[in-house]
Amino acid sequence: MIIDLRSDTVTKPTKGMLDAMWNAEVGDDVFSEDPSINKLEAKAAEMFGMEAGIYCPSGTMTNQTAIKVLTQPQQEVICDVQAHIYKYEAGGMAFNSGVSPRLVNGDRGRMTPQDVIDNINPENTHFAPTSLVALENTSNRGGGSYYTMKEMAAIHQVVKDNCLKFHLDGARIFNALTETHDNPKDLGKLFDTISVCLSKGLGAPVGSVMLSSKENIHKAKRIRKVFGGGMRQAGFLAAAGIYALDNNIKRLKEDHQRAKIIETTLKNLTYIESIMPVDTNIIIFKLNNSMTHEDFLAKLAAKNIKAAATTKQTIRMVTHLDFNDDMLDVLVNTLKSI
Ligand SMILES: *Cc1c(COP(=O)(O)O)cnc(C)c1O
Repeated sequence: MIIDLRSDTVTKPTKGMLDAMWNAEVGDDVFSEDPSINKLEAKAAEMFGMEAGIYCPSGTMTNQTAIKVLTQPQQEVICDVQAHIYKYEAGGMAFNSGVSPRLVNGDRGRMTPQDVIDNINPENTHFAPTSLVALENTSNRGGGSYYTMKEMAAIHQVVKDNCLKFHLDGARIFNALTETHDNPKDLGKLFDTISVCLSKGLGAPVGSVMLSSKENIHKAKRIRKVFGGGMRQAGFLAAAGIYALDNNIKRLKEDHQRAKIIETTLKNLTYIESIMPVDTNIIIFKLNNSMTHEDFLAKLAAKNIKAAATTKQTIRMVTHLDFNDDMLDVLVNTLKSI
């Protein structure tokens, strides 16, 4: 038994999901003729109160497509310094859209309305025109911290007052909604574009959807094409996404509960320096100088447990669909015995 906690992307399709994929009706999606993709796009759009959606191979592509739709070259994008769109998309916003990031030092990946106000450039030829604000919910590098609908609505007010655009990197939005109990439909009223990953906690092998107005999705289709993301009979993959939305949202709570148990375990261990608050399914902690992160990872590996070092002495674990209670027991006992 391998216990892989490096990310919630490591899940493999279950029997039920594979059956749904096997039975998928497909067609050529570049002609918009794949019934499964059309169904997934419409379903996701409807869930979030948006007009339309577009299916892409990755969350990087849905984010980058959204930024391209919402900006013009030379403009500036306000995001947190920890944001995936800045840190983990290979410089994509500069490369693809010719825009620069304006980085906010937020609280575990989250900005306040005042942070946004403070970072909007005044009208002056020296400055890049501020055009887009991008939030990440939950925040990956922020250790799974989340925004409530009320907090996002307050930022939306600033965005609206300043005639800016608003993007949500909702790679793990269902993890946030699991905790806040907010209605996903209300997100459609706040954001111009939303990106949702199906391949994280929801357990699909591939895919993300970008949601927006019909007009923006029409633009996004050409952008996806130039990014090389126009797929053909990808309905086999979309079927996994539909299955994930139907079956794997409710169970996210279990991932959060297991993450909490890991947090509690870590709190009592002598080799731990600090633990970020565990709000959803991500656990980030620092080792003190009694143990190097290489040593710690090797000790876990000896018990077939995989975790990730995000920086020197900092470890990340992410709970997911393929991490069950038996594995949790092994992990807890191993952590205590180290
Ligand atoms: C995983 C992730 C993405 C998208 O990643 P891909 O690997 O390109 O699918 C985007 N944003 C956040 C916050 C993520 O965690």
